[in-house]
Amino acid sequence: MKPQASRPAVFFILLPKKPYIRHTPCLSQKLLLGKVNLRMKKERANERIEQLWHSLLIEEVLQRNESTFEGLSNEEHKKRLAAHGPNRLPKGKKISLVEIILHQFASPLIYVLVAAAIFSLFLKEYSDAFFIGLILLINAVMGTYQEWKAESGAQALQAMIKVQARVRRNGKLRLVDAEDLVPGDVVLLESGHTVPADLRLVESVNLSIEEALLTGESVAVRKEANDMSEAEATLGDRHNMAFAGTMVNSGRGLGVVVATGTQTEIGKIAGQLHGMKASKAPLVLRMERFAKKISIIVLVACALLGVEGYFRGIPLEEVFFFMVAIAVSAIPEGLPIAMTVALSIGTSRMAKRNVIVRKLTAVEGLGSCTMIATDKTGTLTVDQQTVRKLLLPGNEVSELSGQGYNGEGEISFNGATNEQVEGLIEAVTLCNEAALSLEGDGWQHNGDAVDVALLALSYKYNSSPARWKENVEIIKQVPFESALKYAAVYYRKEGRLHLAVKGAAEVLLEHCRSEKEDWEKKANAYAAEGYRILAVATAEVESVNEQLPDLNMLGLLALIDPPRQEVRQAIAECHAAGVSVCMITGDHPATALAIARQLNLATEADQLITGKELAQFSSNTAEFAEAIRNKRVFARVSPEQKQQIVSALQSIGHFVAVTGDGVNDAPALKSANIGVAMGYGTDVAKDVAGIIVTDNNFASIAAGVEEGRYTYANLRKIIYLLISTGAAEILMIGLALGFNTPLPFLPVQLLWLNLVTNGIQDVALAFEKGEKSLMQQKPRKPKEGIFNQMMVTETLVSAAAMTAICFGLWYHLLYNLEMEEFGARNIVLLLMVLLQNFHVMNCRSETQSLFRIPFSNNYVLLIGILAAQGIHIASLHIPLMQGLLSLQPVTLAEWWKLLLTASIILVVMEAFKIINAKKRKPI
Ligand code: ADP
Ligand code: MG
Repeated sequence: MKPQASRPAVFFILLPKKPYIRHTPCLSQKLLLGKVNLRMKKERANERIEQLWHSLLIEEVLQRNESTFEGLSNEEHKKRLAAHGPNRLPKGKKISLVEIILHQFASPLIYVLVAAAIFSLFLKEYSDAFFIGLILLINAVMGTYQEWKAESGAQALQAMIKVQARVRRNGKLRLVDAEDLVPGDVVLLESGHTVPADLRLVESVNLSIEEALLTGESVAVRKEANDMSEAEATLGDRHNMAFAGTMVNSGRGLGVVVATGTQTEIGKIAGQLHGMKASKAPLVLRMERFAKKISIIVLVACALLGVEGYFRGIPLEEVFFFMVAIAVSAIPEGLPIAMTVALSIGTSRMAKRNVIVRKLTAVEGLGSCTMIATDKTGTLTVDQQTVRKLLLPGNEVSELSGQGYNGEGEISFNGATNEQVEGLIEAVTLCNEAALSLEGDGWQHNGDAVDVALLALSYKYNSSPARWKENVEIIKQVPFESALKYAAVYYRKEGRLHLAVKGAAEVLLEHCRSEKEDWEKKANAYAAEGYRILAVATAEVESVNEQLPDLNMLGLLALIDPPRQEVRQAIAECHAAGVSVCMITGDHPATALAIARQLNLATEADQLITGKELAQFSSNTAEFAEAIRNKRVFARVSPEQKQQIVSALQSIGHFVAVTGDGVNDAPALKSANIGVAMGYGTDVAKDVAGIIVTDNNFASIAAGVEEGRYTYANLRKIIYLLISTGAAEILMIGLALGFNTPLPFLPVQLLWLNLVTNGIQDVALAFEKGEKSLMQQKPRKPKEGIFNQMMVTETLVSAAAMTAICFGLWYHLLYNLEMEEFGARNIVLLLMVLLQNFHVMNCRSETQSLFRIPFSNNYVLLIGILAAQGIHIASLHIPLMQGLLSLQPVTLAEWWKLLLTASIILVVMEAFKIINAKKRKPI
């Protein structure tokens, strides 16, 4: 397993085990304790106590929870888990099956149909009423099944985003699912984590927590383990408590679990949170609105036509069914549900490629993404940090062998002295938040990748990290944060107070007096080769200070973190697809440029700009935007600047996807068009992100862009099919009116076409595999609606062609061959089913010839077409259906003729694609 790149709070392990309570309780606290004890004995009212953890001393809290700083034993944990149940809130109310079924009936078309069925009963047209009822039922069953599947798919995706917790059990630190926590567990907190249960803090370093979820206050609250609060204190004033569901903003903390699941503060108000429903994709919402608008127009038009027909003396019954026929053909009933299915297939395809969609807007957005702004470490690189060289004072460079997160390897001194090397190792081991040890089953590591790599030094020096900690008392840690760019530790050794610091070379060198330029030169030289440089310095101090004092440089460490193999290819694919890629990193410019060159993300030095250079421009100005326009590498950038860069990119017209993992990245992720959080990143980042990339790999983001385009394309195909076939039916009715012929289709036949035969095959388009050519086109313009010029013309052309073919035959049969209405209708209906069978194949691609798309890409569609045709042929022969739909069998010869006639639509649309391709310019 790769180390967690978020920084764990393992440093508590390094802290002396005693004394934990560094203050004596004051009188009022003792009194309070007494009071509590008394009440406890009197009433055994555990409930009251539970709410008073904040007013108890740490020892007391541990005692009552029968726990220690070493945490629970595994057996004890098991027992308690059985007693208390898992640490989770009751699931938000799922949409029930009944609700989904009812939902199927809540649409204008269904109202029309129900009215039609009742009207038919009234007219004693029992077979019509029965048929409409049957259609309603089939429609409800299919709709329910599809919606149910989409719904459960969405839930499965949500389940993949789990909160985890670092817990100490049996004295050992491990990562568990938050659901696994029980009262008495000892949990570590660090910046970016979601607090996994209600905790009474027992240690805290710079800890602040954002509690908006509970208190509504969005400013983070300072937390202090030793801060006692009054029993009556409100939640917001309980500074020694951390509550489940809130977010750690900065620092580290250690706490004892005092409440889990429904017992937590959030659990008590969880009822209020239930109502939150998964939101629909904006595109689906737009379509629903579109469908509603059409429905209203159709209904009004129907009513007017009805009135007109009535005054012309047409029987009411006929007028009514005519209105039903128009409504059925014009209302794009199947559209929203087919789109939901396509989106759900898209998101599960993305999940297979390690992209979890949190917000459905992202699916649509990925298709129009023009710029991906990515982190370097872990996303572009493998995040397998290994120290390769120690650069020591003078020109001594000692080298290390070995690779990865283990202590295997050796140091070759090359003239460096033991003293120099030891000094360096001691400093980076004391100033360290990770763990690395050789256990029975191999090397185990835990914590920040850089820190783990530094611990390996001890082993390669034939020693172990424990050695440097003997006789050392840690006084204060300054944990690493990207914004700070260094980490430090104050410790007492042999009676004197020392400081050890490691971090970015420029930052530490600012506090050094001697040989500054020498070090700078060395750092630059190695960074230019792609090494990650870390400076190490120490100082002897009088007291613990906020500011860094004057430092003595011990040396530089050169680490390698090679680029990921697959990323070069992924970047090339992005470029081919018209998507630019830039890197935003906190690392050294030379290192960043070296990596960018290896990946072909940037080639020239003038494509790089540093945070310092950017700081000259004020953000949100045209100059700022101009300065970054052609840059592809942003180095030594602060999280604040990252957000500014994102805004500037947007201001010059980019649609930006941004990656991030830390707390500080949240603003950038929020303002991005698509926030991309990393699987190993913090909960804060995941919370604001639109998608989560589970393997942290840039290649997966590129895959997300690809799948986003495919999904969008499939949505278009479904819309294309449904609108064009609906339009053809309406045109048929219009022509019938114009040429004064009888209606070519009966209302029940239109129902049959739209809800059964075409209804079976339209959803199958959602299963269409992506067209590779989509990744050779420019990104879609974000503002461009789905009914762009392409969509409008292809819909009109195909609808016109289908109408011409169909109405031509209708006219020919009636007036040239003088066939009676019943037989002609039977044939024209079969022709329409065949036309739709062929046209769905046209819709498989808007640009490519259908002969280039193998059927193996979508067997579901093949089955759908055969099923639609099969059901219709069967109905020609089943007496019941013959009666209901006014059908009769056709001869094989007739069928062949109709098949050939219907295939004209293929020829027409193939020709359309060829002409269109000539007009479109390549990128
Ligand atoms: P990025 O993730 O973009 O590569 P970071 O913000 O993680 O950049 O790191 C910025 C700089 O901070 C690094 O170049 C390095 O000098 C320093 N740094 C990184 N990790 C640590 C650490 N664990 N302790 C001290 N300094 C670090
Ligand atoms: Mg980093």
